[in-house]
Formats: sequence, C-alpha cells, structure tokens
Amino acid sequence: MNTLHELLKKHWGRTSFLPHQEEIIRSVLEGNDTLAILATGGGKSLCYQLPALRLGGLTLVISPLISLMKDQIDSLNARRIPAAAYNSTLGFWDRSKIDEELAAGELRLLFVSPERCVQPNFLDSLANVGLRLIAIDEAHCISEWGHNFRPEYRQLARLKRCFPGVPVIALTATAVKDVRADIVRQLGLSHPRKFVGSFNRKNIEYRVIPKKNPLQFLATFIGQHRDDAGIVYCLSKKETEEIARELRRWGFSALAYHAGLSAKTREKVQDGFIKGTVRVVCATVAFGMGIDKPDVRYVIHYDLPKSIESYYQETGRAGRDGKFCECVLLFSRVDSGRIRWMLERDGNGGQVKRALCKLQEMVDYCESTGCRRRFLLRYFDESLEEENCGSCDTCTDPRQEIDGTVQAQMIAACVQQLPAKFGIEIISGVLRGARAKRIHELGLDALPVYGSGKKFSREEYRTWIADLIRQGCLARSGDEYPVISLTAEGFRLLHGRDRIMLPGPVTAEQGWRSAPDSVSRPELPPRLCTGEADPAGVDDETLFL
Ligand code: ADP
Ligand code: ZN
Repeated sequence: MNTLHELLKKHWGRTSFLPHQEEIIRSVLEGNDTLAILATGGGKSLCYQLPALRLGGLTLVISPLISLMKDQIDSLNARRIPAAAYNSTLGFWDRSKIDEELAAGELRLLFVSPERCVQPNFLDSLANVGLRLIAIDEAHCISEWGHNFRPEYRQLARLKRCFPGVPVIALTATAVKDVRADIVRQLGLSHPRKFVGSFNRKNIEYRVIPKKNPLQFLATFIGQHRDDAGIVYCLSKKETEEIARELRRWGFSALAYHAGLSAKTREKVQDGFIKGTVRVVCATVAFGMGIDKPDVRYVIHYDLPKSIESYYQETGRAGRDGKFCECVLLFSRVDSGRIRWMLERDGNGGQVKRALCKLQEMVDYCESTGCRRRFLLRYFDESLEEENCGSCDTCTDPRQEIDGTVQAQMIAACVQQLPAKFGIEIISGVLRGARAKRIHELGLDALPVYGSGKKFSREEYRTWIADLIRQGCLARSGDEYPVISLTAEGFRLLHGRDRIMLPGPVTAEQGWRSAPDSVSRPELPPRLCTGEADPAGVDDETLFL
C-alpha cells in the first residue's frame, strides 16, 4: 500500500504536508474521532480526502453549500479520485448513476448537505456501502455560539448513533473555545483528538482607520492597487451596488455581490473575480465562503463587521498564497449604532444579547491602542510572543503615550460619584459639563465632578475609558447597555497610586494616513452612502451569522 507521502505526491502533486495535516490524517486513520481546527487556507480538505483514499470504502462528507461541493468534486475528479455530490439539483439519471456507483463500491467520497444527510431513507441507504469515515466540514455551523449557526446541523448527532463504529472528523476554522466544546458535545464525538493550528496570519497587515471620507479613501487605496484583486465588505445590499457603481465610474473594474442577486449573476461575479477579469468585488458577507482565490491582495471593511469571528474569517480570504496583503477596517461609532439598531429590531432576547456582546468586542478591537494581531489571536486563545508584530497600524505607528494620572483620577472620581452605573456617554458628558437634558433630569449637574474636565474631548474620554478598562481600573458590564464601574484597582487609583499612562493624541501623520482628503478624482457625490440604517437594504440572510 502507498505511504501517505506517496499518495500526497501521486494525487496532489505535493511533496510535504502543511502544519498539522499529517497528525490529523494519522489520527483519522487510527480510527479516532478527530476535531481539526485550522485557519482558512490551512488545508483542511486534505485531512479527510487523503484518508478517504487510504481507507477505501466510502467517506461521507457533510458540507453546507452546494457551490462548495461542486468545486471540491471537480478538483477531486481532476485528481482521479472518484467523488460525487447528492443534492436536490440532481436529475433522475444522475442520481441513479450515483446509486449504481455507490452499490458497486466505486465512489470514495460522497458529498451531501446536512438536510439530506439526516433523512432516514438516506442514512438507511448507507448501511451496506462500506462507510469508513464521516467528515463534517464547517462544523462550527452546529453551534449557536458560532458566527454561522445552521439549525439543520444539530440533527447530525444522529450520525454517531446510526454508525457508532465509524470515525468522525469535524473540521472548522473557528477556534472560539465555547464553539469547540459545543461541536464535540453536539456531535457526540467520543474522546476526540483535537488539533489546533496557529491562527496567526503573518502575511496579513491589519489596520483600522477612522471612517471619515470612506469613498475617497477607497478611491485612493484602490487606485494604488489598481492591478490587484480585492474585496470591499459592506453591510447592506444597496451599499454594495452603490459603491461598485461609484468605483466603476472612476474606471475600476468592480462588481457587487449579495444574496439578493440571481444565482446566475452571483456566479458570473464569482467567476470573473477568480479569473481576474473583475478586480474588486463589493460584497456583503454572503461572498467568500469557499472562494479559493489565492491572490486576494486586500480586504477592506467599509462597515463594521458584527463580530471578531466574522472579521477574522473575512480578512482570512486575503493572501492565501502567503504573500503580503492588507486588511483595512473603516471604523465609525455610527456604524456600530446602526448594526445595534438592526440587531435589536430583528432578533429575540438571548440572541440579541449575544450579538451585542460580540459587536462590543468588535468595537473594542477598533478602539484598542494595542497590537491588533495580539487582540485577534487572544480571541482564539492564542498568544503572540513578540511584543511588536511589525505589521499592524498600532505596532508600526504606535500612538504616543502621555502621563494620564490626572485624567484617570478624574474619570474614576466621576464613576464613583455617579449615583448609579452609567455608560461612557454620560460619564464624558458629566466631566465635560455637557448641558444634556438627561444629565440635568438625573441631577448629575449637581455633582462635584460636573464640568471638572472641560478641556478634553468626548473622543479622548472614550479612548481613555476604553484604555482604563484594558488596564483593569474600570470594568464594563451589561450586554445591551454597557455601563462602567470601578474595580479595586480603580479605587486604588483614586487614592493616588502610581502613574497611569494613557493614549496620547493622534499625530498629524496618523491623521493624514487615516483620512486622505485629496484624491485624483474629487467629484464625489456628497450624500452617497451616508450609512443611514436602511431596513430594506440589509442582507437579512446574513444578519445573525
Ligand atoms: P481550508 O479548507 O482549510 O481553507 P483548503 O483545503 O481549501 O483549506 O486548502 C487551502 C489551499 O492549500 C489549497 O489551495 C490547497 O490546494 C493547498 N494545500 C493543501 N494541502 C497542501 C499541501 N500539503 N501542500 C501544499 N498546498 C496544500
Ligand atoms: Zn501589531
């Protein structure tokens, strides 16, 4: 029998495995239930395809998207590996052909959707075909804690009951701990072996910039990357179309992609992008799953993503070839308010709470003055050894620090004097002596701290409070309406502890880089894409992903 390396060479033309692939494959071949967590582009498919060849018999692959299955099958068949997909679009003859091949033991891999997989007659039909392995791709879809919950995945627990002796491999690029545990529990995996790859995408540079003149920024950025392929993620369908139209007007080759377009149009956009005839795709999050284009050179988030997980997934589509690429997020608090409004409008209690929590983490990422890469990795329980990653805006262009002891004490005093817990807006309003109706009604303008910090801006307070939370002097609680309280550390601060450093002002250089105001084509329509909440325009299918 061929060794693993011989099979790899013979069918894939590769001479070595990517990190963890070989261990994962060996675990599967030894008959273990296995959980493989590898970042996008980490080579998950091989982890079940190679065992399928080696084991003989049939490997059943559960995959959420028909379009994904089609690509996989084409590429498997090109490698002389017999594979087919069972789905609702098959005609009678195609289906009979697959049935015959199954009965004759000719197929190595059979792809199915989760819905089909749990139909009783389908599972019965697998009783006598020599099932050797079950692979569950995008396994995070089983968890409500993940960013892409698919209720039909829940029923896959049945697989383990129907085929207790067949090993299961669950694959995902989502490493959040709760989700991992949930996958194991929901699928009923027994003593699974777990493999977690690194999530550090070293070739990606991460940047967050204030969303001031977003269209001008796009024009400048894309102008500088005219020959590169890139994705611009937007929140609403309408926005994708407007921005793509605008980019075309400037002479860029851009098209829109969202769930509201016909299947044919979507395919056309996707194909054009992969072939390189379309350079820029302005898309909602509906775009990307399963797009194996190695040379995406940039991903721009025109609007705020809804969670760190989605952000990581979406940026993960850049630079799969390992070469340098850029991910830029345009951040504004208006966007976070807009998403919040939509979530509250469309969700039910628990769901909204969870979604708001995730949104808050995303805002924290944007407002953080620490290394972006470290922030992302920490989210996946991975640490970063080097102090300075050298490839994110906060590391290459660190914000200067100031002695903020006085400011920190002022903020702490304010939080202490307030009669109840309040959010950042009220705290900064009180310190600045704002004449807001709510502050007056609550009698907060009678507090000694009222107006004691007039010379600082709302923005500064916002940054400092976020930083004091990071430093452990303040704590935030409440998912829907986050409020701030003092920690023990914060109390000590009030009583004149050590010096506290806080982020200083944004330098002129950083400001300029963030929001260029001169571009080659200045005739921009002033009111385009203002980011107003537009109930009709949002890609509903993707809102609660
Ligand atoms: P994932 O599903 O984890 O995102 P894929 O299975 O699509 O990743 O693989 C990502 C890319 O890596 C593909 O282009 C694939 O051909 C390539 N790849 C997979 N295994 C190897 C290997 N051992 N050596 C080189 N390239 C590989
Ligand atoms: Zn960094």
